[in-house]
Amino acid sequence: MPYDYDPQNVFAKILRGEIPNDTVLETAHSLAFNDIGPQAPVHVLVIPKGAYVNWDHFVAAASAEEVGDFAKAIHGVVEAKGLEPGAGGQGYRLIMNAGEAGLQEVPHLHVHILSGRKLGRMLAD
Ligand code: AMP
Repeated sequence: MPYDYDPQNVFAKILRGEIPNDTVLETAHSLAFNDIGPQAPVHVLVIPKGAYVNWDHFVAAASAEEVGDFAKAIHGVVEAKGLEPGAGGQGYRLIMNAGEAGLQEVPHLHVHILSGRKLGRMLAD
């Protein structure tokens, strides 16, 4: 089976309410919360509530409603933080790590939203 979801991962525990989180926004199918080890003044993670390992799993298995909700939740955080470049915000960067090459640490799909300072080059090496 290509996508073996580990229900003991830290974000699954957050979704079950077993460990706390600093919620930024919640929708029907998604949750956004502050990263515990922020890499920039704004560092928010957005996760789907469903049990998806990574983006590939999500696209293959999630409903159109969940995919749409996830996209809107990401935009909702951008809007809530006033980051939209077209609306006078300073902009942001989205990062989604997957697998070994991407150095994904938590095996539950999440997108990082980073902003609040100049983020520098996209890749350090
Ligand atoms: P990744 O390397 O893309 O899997 O990123 C995992 C992210 O999850 C890291 O930026 C961690 O700081 C963050 N993280 C781990 N545990 C927690 C937690 N309990 N609450 C919020 N963020 C967390």
